[in-house]
Amino acid sequence: MTKKQEAKIIYQEISKMYPDAKIELNYQQKHELLIAIMLSAQTTDISVNRVTKNLFSNYKTIEDFAHANISDLESQIKNLGLYHNKAKNLKKLAQMIINEFNNQIPKTQKELQKLPGVGRKTANVFLAEYYKIPRIAVDTHVSRVSIRLGLAKINDSPKVVEEKLMKIYDKDKWIDLHHKFIHFGRYFCKSRNPNCKVCPLLNICKMPVID
Ligand code: SF4
Repeated sequence: MTKKQEAKIIYQEISKMYPDAKIELNYQQKHELLIAIMLSAQTTDISVNRVTKNLFSNYKTIEDFAHANISDLESQIKNLGLYHNKAKNLKKLAQMIINEFNNQIPKTQKELQKLPGVGRKTANVFLAEYYKIPRIAVDTHVSRVSIRLGLAKINDSPKVVEEKLMKIYDKDKWIDLHHKFIHFGRYFCKSRNPNCKVCPLLNICKMPVID
């Protein structure tokens, strides 16, 4: 079987398992999406949703975040990891959007990545989710699944994994593939104890864990 054929089967099988996979972060407004993605670094979407429920009702606008008291921000997001840095970045991000981007969240990857706390992955998730711009954001789940299934190599950086996935899959599948791979990695092909014995991709997988 060629790599292209394997990639097709991988997408088909994961699609059967997670036909409706979509982002699991809760948000109403554009800036809330960006902030939720930023806060999700090194923690779970469930934890972020617990925190943002109150955070977004206390801080309703970008201006509110720009004028926030850092100690108050920290106490509101303290259940998330790295909360000192996240609070600091959150306030700076809001100030930068107001002062350098005319109170508009930038629409390009290059500009988004100028914002404190916004890296390539965050920018990709935001552009794909809000503007439906084709992107594959590579997080820990997408990376692990891609490596185990032979779509990437073990030492590939997230950017290299992203490039390999974009090369092998058609552009119109990128956003969907990102969500489906995340679900597959988060709930099935988990870091520890993946469900290899019942995995429909066992024959393709390069790193199955069978006791
Ligand atoms: S066989 Fe195991 S490691 Fe491989 S893709 Fe399936 S669940 Fe993941």
